[in-house]
Amino acid sequence: MDATENTAQQASQATTLRHLQSILDYNTDWIWEVDAQGRYTYSSNACRVLLGRPPEDVVGRTPFDFMPDGEQQRVMRIFQQYASTHSAFRGLVNRNVRPDGSIVVLETSGVPLFNPAGDFVGYRGIDRDITDIGERYLQLEAVCDFVPVPLCIVDVQRRFVMANQALAAVLGMATSAIEGQPVSQFLPGLDACLVASFAALDTLGSEAQPELEIGARWFHLTITTLPDDPRDRPRLSVAMTDITAQKNVEQELARMNRQLARHAYEDYLTGLFNRRHLDSVLRTELARAHRAGAPTSLLMLDLDHFKQYNDRFGHQAGDECLRLVADKIATVISRKGDCLGRFGGEEFMAVLPHTPPEGAHAVALRLQQAMRGLQMPEGAQPASGITLSAGVATLYPDVSRQPFDADSAASCLLQAADQALYRAKSAGRNQIVVHDALWSQACPVASA
Ligand code: GH3
Ligand code: MG
Ligand code: MG
Repeated sequence: MDATENTAQQASQATTLRHLQSILDYNTDWIWEVDAQGRYTYSSNACRVLLGRPPEDVVGRTPFDFMPDGEQQRVMRIFQQYASTHSAFRGLVNRNVRPDGSIVVLETSGVPLFNPAGDFVGYRGIDRDITDIGERYLQLEAVCDFVPVPLCIVDVQRRFVMANQALAAVLGMATSAIEGQPVSQFLPGLDACLVASFAALDTLGSEAQPELEIGARWFHLTITTLPDDPRDRPRLSVAMTDITAQKNVEQELARMNRQLARHAYEDYLTGLFNRRHLDSVLRTELARAHRAGAPTSLLMLDLDHFKQYNDRFGHQAGDECLRLVADKIATVISRKGDCLGRFGGEEFMAVLPHTPPEGAHAVALRLQQAMRGLQMPEGAQPASGITLSAGVATLYPDVSRQPFDADSAASCLLQAADQALYRAKSAGRNQIVVHDALWSQACPVASA
């Protein structure tokens, strides 16, 4: 290259530079660079109008120096989310105060800068004056952020377009870490609701809105479409009302209802059925057996010398013994259809449908056997072990006798089992006595 060519190229570069400089200086948008500490290292001329200050007053200071109190903390919080990961950012709206006290609302965007070694050295960015609409935007943003209702907007790919502070707090993350991410990543339950909502856009809002559990909290979801979105790219807004307190009351009520229902048929000490339920099951089974022409057996069991056990080891040990005995009996009487319960005190009863006397006797033998292996807690084991006496009675239905009186059949069978038990006690305890089989025609009709 000769000297003339060189001079021409330098002149052309100088023209280009002047050109670029005038674009920077006369552009109404403000172009700037900051170092890694956020201090301006370059400022175009537009700051004269935007901030009411010349570039030389801006260079060396930070963006936060021109913001009113409160705004500094708010913007710094947002900016630090980007700066901590050296991310680019766009549309960060912020309020600034000029020396004459007037407010200018700027929309700031920036890209990170790195030196050739790859170290982060600052940001280059641009600010636009959006004072006219900016104030309104900041008010709405403040409402959105301070409302104690988690809110978000989701696009058709089910990604968070916007998330407010309340939602960020529920998830324990920053809004910047949520926005742009798939909903399924943080809230799979909400994602499933959104799948259904996007599939039923036309009826959205008219059907029952779902409830969602997040951690220990419950939310009622209100999902609506954003009205001005194109049909092929709809977005949904989700408002989440905290209904944890209401849900806790509902769950407590449901728990109490279940408990009440259980009390109606369960024995509080052993967890077996109670006497009321046993009575009802016995009548139902006898009526069923009458239709089927099948025998029903009843086992009455009574612990031997249990008063002595209580007197010796105390009432609490007695209760524990009853629980252990109940568990043991339940392992023996576990056939489907059999019904075992605590009749009262230290007495147990079992209704054995479709069982003849020999079968019931065999069950009673197995029970005695099981009791021999029963171990009480240390210090509460009598030398002679825990034994029981058993009375067995069986009722055969007389199918010719109609109508069948379940009440009289039940009391007849109970009385027979009780008599057998009494005889077992009289015979020295730890015995099984089987009553002669009964026929339903022998039972007196209760109403007669
Ligand atoms: P028997 O061999 O004649 O049946 O003598 P027993 O001592 O077992 O019979 P008795 O009917 O004289 O006494 C029953 C005792 O069972 C009275 C009471 O001390 C005890 N008992 C009844 N219900 C409970 C209970 O819920 N918990 C405890 N710990 N003991 C109970
Ligand atoms: Mg008793
Ligand atoms: Mg007893």
